[in-house]
Amino acid sequence: WRETFMQPSIGQVPLRCSLSTFNHFVASTKLEPKSPLPPQMPNAKPFRLAVKDNIATEEFPTQCASAILGQHASPFEATIVRQLRQRGATVIGKTNMDEFGMGSHSVNSIHGPVRNPLSAAGDDVSAGGSSGGSAVAVALNEADIALGTDTGGSVRLPAAYTGTIGYKPSYGMLSRFGVVPYANSLDTVGLLARDVEPIRELVFDTGLYQEHDPHDPTSLNVAARQRCSKACPPTLPTLSQLTIGIPVEYNIDELDPSIRAAWVATASALEAQGARVVPVSLPSIKEALCAYYILAPAEASSNLGKYDGVRYGVRGPGGDAAGETLYSEARGAGFGAEVKRRILLGTYSLSSEAMDNYFIQAQKIRRLIQRDFDRVFKLDNPLYEPRQFDLSEMSADTALEDKQGPLQVDFLLSPTAPTYPPKLSDIQKRSSVDMYMNDVLTVPASLAGLPAISVPVKAEQSHQFPAGIQLIAQYWDDRRLLALADKVV
Ligand code: GLN
Repeated sequence: WRETFMQPSIGQVPLRCSLSTFNHFVASTKLEPKSPLPPQMPNAKPFRLAVKDNIATEEFPTQCASAILGQHASPFEATIVRQLRQRGATVIGKTNMDEFGMGSHSVNSIHGPVRNPLSAAGDDVSAGGSSGGSAVAVALNEADIALGTDTGGSVRLPAAYTGTIGYKPSYGMLSRFGVVPYANSLDTVGLLARDVEPIRELVFDTGLYQEHDPHDPTSLNVAARQRCSKACPPTLPTLSQLTIGIPVEYNIDELDPSIRAAWVATASALEAQGARVVPVSLPSIKEALCAYYILAPAEASSNLGKYDGVRYGVRGPGGDAAGETLYSEARGAGFGAEVKRRILLGTYSLSSEAMDNYFIQAQKIRRLIQRDFDRVFKLDNPLYEPRQFDLSEMSADTALEDKQGPLQVDFLLSPTAPTYPPKLSDIQKRSSVDMYMNDVLTVPASLAGLPAISVPVKAEQSHQFPAGIQLIAQYWDDRRLLALADKVV
């Protein structure tokens, strides 16, 4: 019994039901939960959890920062929230975000923009998006862990801008049941914290990564989880046994020189500790941003079809049963400008005259990107059946056909974002395409479904902001990714 007293007490948990200085929590009235709390695991450790507002909770409404969901109250709770409650979580509130996850600065929100606590007085800068509110909640130590979602960088970018850790697991590892979909083939639940260790503990020590969710069709089944876990080494060897790849295509012109310097310094530090650092090339990455901004809006346009004022959404005053004005009223008033832009973009690229030139091409690029990653990693992608070689036909050349021999690496190292957080006042002046540019370094891992993490690194020439550095691993190699991230911080 003494052990229970040795667990840290979290004291009185304040419920964040009002707008805060940084506008990172959503003001919402507490609801009466419909189902009892799940029993806690015997070794559960109490912690404070902030939840992005596109993840369903029973205690608070789930609005996705959108007028169309008004005070939408979910009748059930997301699997991930239940799983974290079993592990000791107390939900302290819902966090502000970009509407339906669409954006990179948490400014496309009915609640107004999230402000970054690292801002200088009177000069507010972006907290990153779309999980900006979750990042700020952990940065300010109001939550120990925050849940976000990462479709094309929405956990990693806010982490980079706020100096926190943002982890996007392998696609299909954590359940998405109860997470409002943006683009199903890319959506991933991610975790934010101030250190790597609490994330590692939660995901691996408590066995979260092994839990299949039958309610989520994209949750990896038990057999596949076992196969993947067998294929990935369980522990990180000493750094002298690791090869770290520097993907040359990530060294873009737009990269802030001081972020580039932090990237080089991180690579040098790993090399000084014995790691082998080599340049690698992922040629198709150059098309990743374009492919992402075709695929994500296409999936979004289909997902958001249900917000029509009938099944979901708020009905306008003139709503008629014939549906003439019902849809346009509900959607016209309910969606913000960026969401409307994505719906139009997605509907167009899926239309019969544009499909071949846009959607199909983007799918092809996605395959090439996945192949590029598989070629540079030492480990095979465990999702694919192991290749059957015919020994009689096998030569040294055929064996290396899909791998680039000496340049094979354990992990890739890159910056998370091309620049430091921009000023909120400048964001308003920028075009949306200009904004999309911000995601250029995070979308490749999303398109390939790979685990990636952003860690803050002290940047020599910036006193105000740390630089976000990204590590990417082969599919399901998450455990070693987190172990290495812990050495980089
Ligand atoms: N900024 C990207 C977008 O707007 C990524 C968002 C996300 O990961 N949810 O689509």
